[in-house]
Amino acid sequence: MPTPTLQAKLDQVNARINRAAGAVSRDPASICLVAVSKTYPVQAVLEALDAGQTHFGENYAAEGVSKIEQLRAARPQAAVQWHFIGPIQSNKTRLIATHYDWVQSIDRLKIAQRLSEQRPADAAALNVLIQVNISAEPSKSGVAPDALLDLAREVAELPRLRLRGLMAIPQATVHEPQQRQAFAAMRALFEAARAVGGPYWDTLSMGMSADLEAAIAAGSTMVRVGRAIFGERT
Ligand SMILES: *Cc1c(COP(=O)(O)O)cnc(C)c1O
Repeated sequence: MPTPTLQAKLDQVNARINRAAGAVSRDPASICLVAVSKTYPVQAVLEALDAGQTHFGENYAAEGVSKIEQLRAARPQAAVQWHFIGPIQSNKTRLIATHYDWVQSIDRLKIAQRLSEQRPADAAALNVLIQVNISAEPSKSGVAPDALLDLAREVAELPRLRLRGLMAIPQATVHEPQQRQAFAAMRALFEAARAVGGPYWDTLSMGMSADLEAAIAAGSTMVRVGRAIFGERT
């Protein structure tokens, strides 16, 4: 059998989203697919763009900026949205604030303040999500659930940021009840923080290649998918 083309894999992921939404009577248009292009070459991003994909996610600030610039040169008219989804070092905030449209990995006030201060005046406000360490893994980034409300209240006040909601990477598990529990806990936090999150609170980013169905069943509005679109990372 020939290997499926990127277009075919993208179509498959969109079909999975449609099915998962339909199964819980949700509108598939309310779920945004972010294609996670970290480690893949810009040619793969270009191919996905030409296949209709417009949101892309990157984990490493400079690697992403290189692709952002190459893609803009190749397709100057394309309306692409770039999401920064990796851990944020203080010395990378200016690069991120200058080039990305979304930052999904806010987990402390100092980083949020720097991004707000460094967002260029001629750019739209930077869309941000607060990352929650929902499985309490010591190795993972993210704010602890019990510190979320205070952080959300403060981030919502920052002038050059637009706080849109929450992001999580639940612990990888093959145990389905445990996975559903983590997604349900995120949904509950998303609703609980709405009152302090401000007027733009509309995005719950959870679900990846292996678990997007369970995430959508729990109310995810944004899934971040790498391998199922671009193939295994080497
Ligand atoms: C790599 C990554 C993804 C995509 O994971 P896949 O298993 O390739 O679908 C999603 N979110 C974050 C934060 C990632 O780092």
